[in-house]
Amino acid sequence: MTALNPDVIHTWLADFASQVHENAAWLTDLDRAIGDADHGSNLDRGMRAVDALDAASFADSAAYLKKAGMTLVSTVGGASGPLYGTFFLRVGGALPPDGEIRASQWGDAFEAGLAGIVQRGRAEVGDKTMVDALTPAVAAFRGAGDDVKAAWAAAATASAAGRDATVPLVARKGRASYLGERSAGHQDPGASSVTLLIESAARTLG
Ligand code: ADP
Ligand code: MG
Repeated sequence: MTALNPDVIHTWLADFASQVHENAAWLTDLDRAIGDADHGSNLDRGMRAVDALDAASFADSAAYLKKAGMTLVSTVGGASGPLYGTFFLRVGGALPPDGEIRASQWGDAFEAGLAGIVQRGRAEVGDKTMVDALTPAVAAFRGAGDDVKAAWAAAATASAAGRDATVPLVARKGRASYLGERSAGHQDPGASSVTLLIESAARTLG
């Protein structure tokens, strides 16, 4: 069991916002290779707007995460804005009431977030998208047991492995799929940014 409240959510979102900011050029370079060179700048703009939200103004964690999701939908262009937005909306909608939260409940919310991305983007594992990092991350979280911090740490390790495994893949979804075979040999930008998100969770949640 660990605490769930808007302050906890704020530490997670603020850590992710700073990671995105520091890595914006790298994420954009990854997107330059197989996309349109905007993933880092898009997400940085969105997470700056999320970071500007006042945690104290929200009744609970769910309301805060839903607002974060809506903020990303409205400020991040491209494919990733609605996908990230859906993730946070679904996570917020699936969390228990504020107070104490157990690892299995965080796992339920994390899985709901991934399900929202899959429902919206229709990507499967192997399509060279953020789903390739998030799917093994959810599985690792589920398999990690009752310790919230250990579960997020396991998820972060699995996410990084899923991200690395996108390198040889040929993209079948999103802008990178227009390149066909030429998309192979490059790391997927979205799988890279969601790994930063899970690594932030591992640092701040639990
Ligand atoms: P855009 O491709 O519109 O410029 P971004 O550059 O911000 O959007 O984001 C690209 C990332 O979005 C890709 O690296 C990939 O991980 C992710 N992505 C694209 N399409 C999908 C999809 N259908 N499902 C899941 N993720 C996707
Ligand atoms: Mg792009």
